[in-house]
Amino acid sequence: MIQNRTKIIATVGPACIQNSTLKKMVLAGTNAFRVNMSHGSQKDKKEIIKKIKRLETPNGERPCIIADLAGPKIRVRKISREFEIKKKDTVFISSDETEAENTIIVSNGIKFSKVKKGASIKINDGRIQLKVEKKLSPTLLQCITAIGGKIEKRKGVNFPGVTLQLSALTDQDHKDLKLAITEKVDWIALSFVRSANDKAEIDKELKKRNSNIPIIAKIEKWEALQDLDAVIDKFDAVMVARGDLGVETPPEQVPLAQKRIIKQANKKGKPVIIATQMLESMISEPVPTRAEVSDIANAIFDGADALMVTGETAMGIHPVAVVKVLKKVILETEKTIDFNRVRQSIGLQNTADAISHATCQVAQDLAVDCIVTMTHSGSTARMISRYRPNGRVVALTPIEQTCRQLAIVWGISPFKIIEYKNTEDITRIVEEELLSKRIIKPGKQYIITGGVPVGIPGTTNYLSIQRA
Ligand code: PGA
Ligand code: MN
Repeated sequence: MIQNRTKIIATVGPACIQNSTLKKMVLAGTNAFRVNMSHGSQKDKKEIIKKIKRLETPNGERPCIIADLAGPKIRVRKISREFEIKKKDTVFISSDETEAENTIIVSNGIKFSKVKKGASIKINDGRIQLKVEKKLSPTLLQCITAIGGKIEKRKGVNFPGVTLQLSALTDQDHKDLKLAITEKVDWIALSFVRSANDKAEIDKELKKRNSNIPIIAKIEKWEALQDLDAVIDKFDAVMVARGDLGVETPPEQVPLAQKRIIKQANKKGKPVIIATQMLESMISEPVPTRAEVSDIANAIFDGADALMVTGETAMGIHPVAVVKVLKKVILETEKTIDFNRVRQSIGLQNTADAISHATCQVAQDLAVDCIVTMTHSGSTARMISRYRPNGRVVALTPIEQTCRQLAIVWGISPFKIIEYKNTEDITRIVEEELLSKRIIKPGKQYIITGGVPVGIPGTTNYLSIQRA
């Protein structure tokens, strides 16, 4: 079976939670599952994680699990009574408990001190829009309706362009983070990241619990775009979370933001995920729209490592078909483009940059179609992946977590191998793996790259050309 080099991430939800559906999704090409920690009880979330752990991917590992923390998302907490608002209606936004008429109660305790008259407030992904008329108190706003609709509980509320005083992790996030750490998920995603500093709060918790799970920054706030360089440096991966990003910033600015985020992340060798509305119509329809197919292909052209579906698999009626369509479009697109970026300057700054570049250059010059990266942290594999070499990139690692974490990195086929200490053992171990897994045929050339001393992240410093 041909492997998709651009990876597929599917969100788990009620629509696909049956074991048989999950199994079919893995078979269809799902590389990683996202567990959205915004919904359900601790027990529900634990149960979902346990279910995914029982699955097996074609490389013999369980699928990669991403626990997605809700972060400081503001939601409709309560409504004085169900109501529909029409254009020009006056409504109130309160962060206090109140029984007043026409009042939408949002997440507890937020202060609206920075909200100015004329500011816009968007509810339910921007379907409903309000304009602030008057600040009645630091916790109460009077607004006029610009676009009406039905006000429902739990829907998201966005304040584009306004900086609200919120901490990076809510009380619920702390509980979810604890669960993610005890369950040893492979990646943690943090929603609504505003600056590189937001990672500090998670780091504190990870350190306390002696964990080193890598963290994905979800770029969905305008503030994060302003601190993009530092965010990508600080976090281990990024996600272009187009759902909220298209509410926090004008939707017409999202395509360019996507290109900018991908370019920066590629350069630094950090995995970048494109998410939301990739196959939105398939929530109810069996086939995608032409525009959706085109969007998927364009995300690949832009340089995405992975594509993520959300409601399509979590709530839609065709979760397996969604993954099949993704895979089909990915394979077709990958067939038609030459990714090779060896000649493109990514900006060589250190030994790891130079060696990974040289490895891909040698592979091209000698027409070697298998590059083996020996990695503990996953760093060497990511360094190679960013040059998008044409051949197969195999990552061999003795670390189970690294093996699963690499599931979201473009073009990497990760396999777990036995622990090795001596560099003299490497060639023998690699050859045995390649031949026994039928990755290459005897007599064929391959390239090995990695770092010595073994086990220190970021030390990619050798390359060697071998013949099996
Ligand atoms: P969400 O993130 O599904 O957690 O909101 C994705 C997005 O905002 O695009
Ligand atoms: Mn979001």
